[in-house]
Parts: sequence; structure tokens; C-alpha cells
Amino acid sequence: MSQGTKELLFLDPVCTHNIWGGTRLREEFGCGEAGDDLGECWGISAHPNGDGTVKNGTFAGLKLSQVWENHPEVFGNLSGDRFPLMAKIIDARDDLSIQVHPDDAYAREHENGSFGKTECWYILDAPEGSTLVFGHNARTKEELSSMVHEGRWTEFIREIPVKKGDFIQIDPGTVHAIKGGLLLLETQQNSDITYRVYDYDRLQNGSPRELHIEKSLDVITVPAKPAEESVRSVLDLPKNRMNELYACNYYKVFKIDVEGGMELEQKYPFLMLSVVEGEGVMDDVPVKKGEHLIVPHGYGRMRLQGNLSMIASTVGEGTRGE
Ligand code: ZN
Repeated sequence: MSQGTKELLFLDPVCTHNIWGGTRLREEFGCGEAGDDLGECWGISAHPNGDGTVKNGTFAGLKLSQVWENHPEVFGNLSGDRFPLMAKIIDARDDLSIQVHPDDAYAREHENGSFGKTECWYILDAPEGSTLVFGHNARTKEELSSMVHEGRWTEFIREIPVKKGDFIQIDPGTVHAIKGGLLLLETQQNSDITYRVYDYDRLQNGSPRELHIEKSLDVITVPAKPAEESVRSVLDLPKNRMNELYACNYYKVFKIDVEGGMELEQKYPFLMLSVVEGEGVMDDVPVKKGEHLIVPHGYGRMRLQGNLSMIASTVGEGTRGE
């Protein structure tokens, strides 16, 4: 085993300013960016629009995309020209636009070979009575088209109640929107292709943000999948173990609640960890809320101590090694 494989890769995240953003990413999650409009903290990302930097060790100062390109052994020599995943924290002070993402096939053809976007959310915080937009009420493609073109938004949009600790899987083609007040961790394919269906007629710098009606109508799934199949509470899961929340072709997502201590076996090509509550120690390294790291291939057993909650993820079955 080479020297590098026992090193955790802590990342310096990229934070974004958004009209709907707030202050919690700076105040609670260690985001170093100024401003009261911080919407997203791209904790683990190798995307060209926000490429995280390794903070420590052998690869300190390198972008995650550079580590992926030049040191494939860190990721178990997975094939693929891009780092496959992204983990971000989203703080919505205000409502996000109502949007939909394409799948890989549509994005490859219409978005210069980009990945499509499959994503999932773990709700970190939600005020009493919170909702989000998930799916729609059109029964046919014709009804979808007329509801959207005629702006019958209250009829079109399906809103569902959510609370802290809910997990939501969002397949491509699903109409969705985060509502004001929600704080969540998103695990997703490494893509930022988003089609905006409706933006509540808001203005940014005096003009409405661009909508993508025709592409949205191309990709929206009709009828929408029932919400019950995609939303469930995972707040109280067994402590001191890796609880699998979801597995698809692109990712496997886990929740880990450490209370006292546990051992974790890093048997995956790589493992992404985001600390969302508390603090502790990973082997000899202190960690706390707001930190994001990658546990490299071949790391083996890790001793975790303290009181902390993490969302972990790795590649799904559709991503193959060489
Ligand atoms: Zn989305």
C-alpha cells in the first residue's frame, strides 16, 4: 500500500451567491465567503463551475478535478473522464425556482455532452409546516403543455409537507423546488444542467431570470411518480453504523450517526463524507460540522469517535472500475 492511501482528503468548498440564499452556510457551516446571499456550499465538487481544492497532505492545493485526472488510484482507478459526484449544502432563505433536470441521454445530445442530473436530498432543517415542490398534477403531455403555457401554476404544482430528517430521491424528469426555510444536503451527479420552468415572476437586477420551457416540456415525466415512493423519514436510524439511504446507478448514499465510537470499513472505490452535525475524531484527525472530505481507495478500517452525524456517498453500480 502506498503512503498516500491512508490520507483523508479534506476539501475547501466553493460557495455561491444566489438571490434566494442566506447566512447559515457562513454562520453554521464554516463557509468563508462574505455576503448574506449564500445559497450553495459545494462541499465536494470537481465541476468546472466550482472545483474544490484539497486542503491537506500530499495533494494540498490541487483541485479535486486534478486529483481525479492525475491520481486515479485515490478513487480506485474508476473509468470516466470526470469525477462522477457532487455533495452540496443548500440554504434557502427564499423559494428556489421550479425546475427539472434532464437524464444522461438528453443532456449528452442537447448540452454538449454533459451528464444528466439525478439528485437526492437529506433535509437538515425545516421550520414547522415546511413544504417543497415535488412532481406535478398534469395527467398527459397535452395537459402539461397547456398548464405550463397558460401559467396555471397553482393547478400544476404539487407541494408536499417535509420535515427535518426526510430523504427525497429526485429522478431526472421530476419537477421540483426547494422552498424558503429549508436547509438540506444534496448528493448528485456531477452536473449543473437545470431547466427552469417557473420563477414566481421574480426579478433579478430588474429582469426575470431565463426560463427553459421547451426543454422542460421535453424532459418532464408524465404522469409524475407518487410522492410516497420517493420521500421517507430517516431521522432516527441505528447509531454507529452505515445506514444505506438509497442506491441507484449513479450513487449510494448513507447516513452515519456516531454516538461514542464506531468502526467504518472503507471498502468502496472512494467514500465522500460531509459532517452535518457535531464533532469528533477520525483515526487521529479532528472533524466538525461543515467539513467535507474524501476517504481514498484502500483506506480500510477507520475508527470514528465523538458525537456527529454525517451523510456519506460513493458511486453506484452503474459506475465501473477498470
Ligand atoms: Zn435539482
